[in-house]
Amino acid sequence: MNPFDIIGHQDVLQTLRTQSAHAFLLLGPHRVGRKAVAHFIAALANCAYGTACGNCPSCLAIARDTHTDVMLVSPKTETSTGKQARKKLIPVKVITERRDETHEYDQHVVEWLYIAPHTRRKVVIFDGAEYLNNEAANALLKTLEEPPHRSMFVFIAEDQQLVIPTIVSRCARIFVPPVPEAQMQQALMELENNIDPELLEFAAGRPGVLFERETVREALSQARALVQGLESSMLDALMAAEKLEKTFNPEWHPEALLFAFRHHPLSARAKADLALSDALEALEQYANPALVFQVLALKLREALGVV
Ligand SMILES: [Zn+2]
Repeated sequence: MNPFDIIGHQDVLQTLRTQSAHAFLLLGPHRVGRKAVAHFIAALANCAYGTACGNCPSCLAIARDTHTDVMLVSPKTETSTGKQARKKLIPVKVITERRDETHEYDQHVVEWLYIAPHTRRKVVIFDGAEYLNNEAANALLKTLEEPPHRSMFVFIAEDQQLVIPTIVSRCARIFVPPVPEAQMQQALMELENNIDPELLEFAAGRPGVLFERETVREALSQARALVQGLESSMLDALMAAEKLEKTFNPEWHPEALLFAFRHHPLSARAKADLALSDALEALEQYANPALVFQVLALKLREALGVV
């Protein structure tokens, strides 16, 4: 199988085959396939046949995330001292060695780009361009404008509005939209020979969700259990909240919970959304998790109109 047979984005790949730019901004929802598209861009630039063939050593290394000319930069969670909030960030110290006084990173974008590529073109992928702050973007700007060795940049973001304008203006913008339902169904059939309407509804055109379907199904079933508990009695609600606390996965549970509320009136959903963001914020600030989930259960009961 070709690693660049990316589910549902053949049009995007076709556009990229004919577009010559050295910096791209890939815009689309989380898990829609933006990172796979970024890998395809790196493969086009370095494939032995120039086609992202999927079979040459260069393509295979890119697909396995082990290519020496491809660097992936993701935000990390910065913990400030004491009990301050944890914040996701791509810090300036990963951009240039000169700003990494404590030698926290082995590799720095700017210095790495000045070393000649092994294959043809170096590619830096920023998975979460929203998390590049002004300081980091400024440190990157000169390299982005005059890239050494014809290097390339791929910025991945959910929302263009959250990316620093000096970066946006230097990129070719490519939209990676949700995949049509029929293609999602076909992809799921190929994965497990099954049509799961609830999973497909939750995925809403994001093929990445299908690849994590077992985790997602578990989160959905736990979210359903919580809603049942909420509707049953105060004691059941608190017990369900305690259960959820033990398995809570911030990647999936918040979305699964809102999904479990999808047939409730808009006002209830808005209240549930607010209760959830409050809970997540409290967790980020190291509040007592047991307490956070109890408060969440009470607020969700209120949202549902169960008193
Ligand atoms: Zn190839």
